[in-house]
Amino acid sequence: MAAAPPGTAGASRALLKSLRDLMGSARDTQSSLDRTVTLVGNAMVADVCSIYLRRTDGMLELCATEGLKREAVHRTQMKPREGLVGLVAELAEPVALSDAPSHPRFSYRPETGEDPYQSFLGVPILRSGRLIGVLVVQNRNPLNWADDDIEVLRTIAAFIGEQVPDDGAGGALAGFEIKPTQPVRMRGKVLSQGLAEGVAVLHEPVVAATRILAEDPVAEEQRLQTGLIDLRSGLERLLTGDAETLGGVPYEVLETFLLLSQDRGWERRLVDGVRAGLTAEASVEQVRSEHRARLANAKDNYLRDRLQDLEELDNRLLRHLSGASAPSLAPGADAIIVARDIGPAELLEYGADRIKAVLLEEGSPSGHAAIVARAMRLPMIGQLPGLLSQVEAGDPVIVDAGEHTAYLRPEAAVRQAFDTRLRLQTEERAQFAAQRDEPCITRCGQRVGLLLNAGLAVDMEQLDLTGADGVGLFRTEFQFMVSDTMPRLESQTELYSAVMAAAAGRPVTFRTLDLGSDKMAAFMPKEREENPAMGWRAVRIGLDRPALSRYQLRALVRAAEGQHLRVMFPLVTVIEEFRKARALLAQELDWARKHGRTGPVRLEVGAMVEAPALAWQTREIAAEADFLSVGTNDLLQFFFAADRGSARMAERFDILSRPALGFLRHIRTSAGSTPMSVCGEHAGRPVEAMALIALGFDRLSMPAGGIGPVKRMAMATDFDHLRPRLEAWLEDPKVDIRAALCAYATENSIVL
Ligand code: PEP
Ligand code: MG
Repeated sequence: MAAAPPGTAGASRALLKSLRDLMGSARDTQSSLDRTVTLVGNAMVADVCSIYLRRTDGMLELCATEGLKREAVHRTQMKPREGLVGLVAELAEPVALSDAPSHPRFSYRPETGEDPYQSFLGVPILRSGRLIGVLVVQNRNPLNWADDDIEVLRTIAAFIGEQVPDDGAGGALAGFEIKPTQPVRMRGKVLSQGLAEGVAVLHEPVVAATRILAEDPVAEEQRLQTGLIDLRSGLERLLTGDAETLGGVPYEVLETFLLLSQDRGWERRLVDGVRAGLTAEASVEQVRSEHRARLANAKDNYLRDRLQDLEELDNRLLRHLSGASAPSLAPGADAIIVARDIGPAELLEYGADRIKAVLLEEGSPSGHAAIVARAMRLPMIGQLPGLLSQVEAGDPVIVDAGEHTAYLRPEAAVRQAFDTRLRLQTEERAQFAAQRDEPCITRCGQRVGLLLNAGLAVDMEQLDLTGADGVGLFRTEFQFMVSDTMPRLESQTELYSAVMAAAAGRPVTFRTLDLGSDKMAAFMPKEREENPAMGWRAVRIGLDRPALSRYQLRALVRAAEGQHLRVMFPLVTVIEEFRKARALLAQELDWARKHGRTGPVRLEVGAMVEAPALAWQTREIAAEADFLSVGTNDLLQFFFAADRGSARMAERFDILSRPALGFLRHIRTSAGSTPMSVCGEHAGRPVEAMALIALGFDRLSMPAGGIGPVKRMAMATDFDHLRPRLEAWLEDPKVDIRAALCAYATENSIVL
């Protein structure tokens, strides 16, 4: 066999062409499979060629064979991990054996009559990273399979994977998961609340089925090589700092990509695919599909990380080949974006009016993509393992963040239940709207300020819709993140003026630029940092680049002419930074006066408490600042030494634990009479907000979706009653404070 011609590129291309013709002309699916095994068996000079397909119940069923007994077709079924066929499925990799019967996983099936066959070569049949079957060739002789044989069979399997028709419920392949049809229910982590219904759109590029076979393999190999060169030189440019942007990807990741992109094994697999007759895209897709399928089975964290890197690299190469840098969407589609992870800028690029929801395999609640999703009022569920291997583009999808659940291809009953929830949501919203104009006064008569976190001009309409008391955190960096060039003074001024006009007298706290870490602006020069969240970001950049800061402060002073201006500096770590930042603002006020402007009628300057070092100087900063705001997203990531963007860390530590609540209590007490709010994401969650108010935080700033539920909770709670209990729980290490708060809410009929 090793000397036989099929291992040559020309022969395999001819074989793929014949397969395409055959599949196009066969009268039905079964005869197409029968003819496929005959053709492949002959071409591979094999005694046996068989196709096993995976049933919806996971069994691998013999669907066509040349060489085994015909009666076994549709009778022989292997359990998911049974036998050598099961091993190929489990590994999602080829298994090549010269002496199959002596392998410990060999499982003898008398009905197939496979006794005389010694050598075995099985490869996975994959479709969009899902294993749909196994293609096997066997020979009587104990052959040592050549790499070329394996490669050719892999390419054939890739082709079969894309081409096996999905002949629907009544067809020969009913009961098989060719194109997934089974409803799937997945529970994940809610990153942004809401309900949505639409169709799946894959964030990563997909290869059109029409672009599988290359007409001109030589030209195709050239295209692939050009794509690889572009990919590598693009990565090199980014790393050497020539390019203006790292595209939001951390340096280390790019460095890993660059190393991987030079991997000879990866390149060889791609070239082999093209030489065997696939287009460059189809060859990348074949390799990506294998990476995905292996990822779905991989348990080891290191291996998972590498496979994810490889898949990302495959995606980048596909983008280079297609020439598309940004994701495109069919107009009018109710798009539900499906991705492994997504960056905040990518989400903003899609735009709130073009997409309905986002589903992620990963993602973390305090990552910036989640914050942007909440700002855009897009439902988002993350941490859905196996999502990408179970969804196909165009699948109907329901996102029910209230239930932490995503439904792929939902049944009618689920759709009905969803409609009911949608109605309930509408009713709940109506309830919140009815309470909108009531001030938030607790059962014990305390007034609590509920404010909005915003970052885009469009967020401002939420002020009226929610009845919030003002904007407690306006993230000015969003405007910078969505621009290709540095926003000019005029456009900054315009945005701030529009925001103040929309606030119509309600206070707005503008936070100065919090760029850096994962919030990169396209035009910013990048610096390599080991730990960007703890690196050059926020006010640290602001102080090192006073011109950038003054520019922004000038726009704020201009926009606030004759009005009340509140400015807040992010990530202040030592008091000296606050003084310096405040001095820059003073210079701008002087400048405005010198130019005949009166400036704001009232000015308040504050700092965010989000670095633990500042938290331990709360008394001192409170004496200098007009107000303070605790940014629990950053503060807790530093407190717990747990990356806020890491999916693995997301569930690990709890703000409602004794150390975190004790720390927050210390901060609140030390601030004395200086106004202090909380503006991290936690403030928008009723249970967390309940604890924060009990600790003495009487101003909470949150995403729009949190205002109604937090108001309902606060108005139903007697904090004078709760406070001593919380104090007692904080002193007792045996108490699970989260559980105690929830039980307290139930006992006191407080809806959380
Ligand atoms: C925070 O860190 O809690 C915060 C509100 O700021 P950001 O989430 O924008 O970093
Ligand atoms: Mg922060």
